[in-house]
Amino acid sequence: MKKGAVKTWSTPAVQEEQRLIPCTLCGGRGFRPALSCEGFAYVRCTGCGLVQMNPQPLHSEVHKRYREEHGKDYLAYELANEKNFLRLQELALSDAGFTALEGELFAAGIPKILDAGCATGALLEKLRNRGWEVQGVELSLPQADYAGKARNINVRSLPLEESYFNGGEFQVILASHLIEHLNNPGAFVREAYRILSPGGHFFVTTPNIAGFQARLFKGRWRSAIFDHLYLFSVKTLSLLLSQSGFALEKIITWGGLAAGTAPPFLKYWADRGAKKFGFGDVMLIRVKKPR
Ligand SMILES: [Zn+2]
Repeated sequence: MKKGAVKTWSTPAVQEEQRLIPCTLCGGRGFRPALSCEGFAYVRCTGCGLVQMNPQPLHSEVHKRYREEHGKDYLAYELANEKNFLRLQELALSDAGFTALEGELFAAGIPKILDAGCATGALLEKLRNRGWEVQGVELSLPQADYAGKARNINVRSLPLEESYFNGGEFQVILASHLIEHLNNPGAFVREAYRILSPGGHFFVTTPNIAGFQARLFKGRWRSAIFDHLYLFSVKTLSLLLSQSGFALEKIITWGGLAAGTAPPFLKYWADRGAKKFGFGDVMLIRVKKPR
């Protein structure tokens, strides 16, 4: 296997019913090839630059992967990596100013936070211990069950748009490594906007296709996997969020080179450079719903 070929875990590439869709960001219908992978490929919109799998598997097929066919595999994957994922999430939130925000919000009462795609609920458990009122959404039923039974977290196992939370119910919404899995990321962002309170904050973490590793590894990039229907850049994700009315607050990227793809000294400098200059492998964009 070539260097860089260690990919993030995904459900296997299979033949599913697919359809050609217009660009979710600009409505354009012009595309050119972007990344070619084993069994699937991505195209880039000639209008706005958004990279997407197109033709795209049907919504119903995608749901089946997480809810039925591979729900248990996802639970096993999350449990095996839980500590590491939690550490990375906490680090990213801290870099995006989450702790300072907590100070402001707790001064006004007990704030309510939603983790969309909460997996096993590890982060929500930590946040509850810090005093937050917590709520999860997780499509994978085995993971939602685990979060409920093992951690006593309130989780709805439905897509966010079908969870019917009240308008303005949350002060903060988190979505880590979720948006790239969704057929309709625009609908998801609009729903997050609706259920956030005015002045509320939305933290979106996703792989960055404009980062150094994606440019270097192309179709062998670790985030070019069958389960990722969209591969955003800072530019395309910012545009999607601002289209829904959000105001940009902070952008961070991290990860210069994945472990095992380069000698340690090179990885050290690549990671430092990626964070400083914004060409990291993963990004977090923090936005605010205007008052
Ligand atoms: Zn487009």
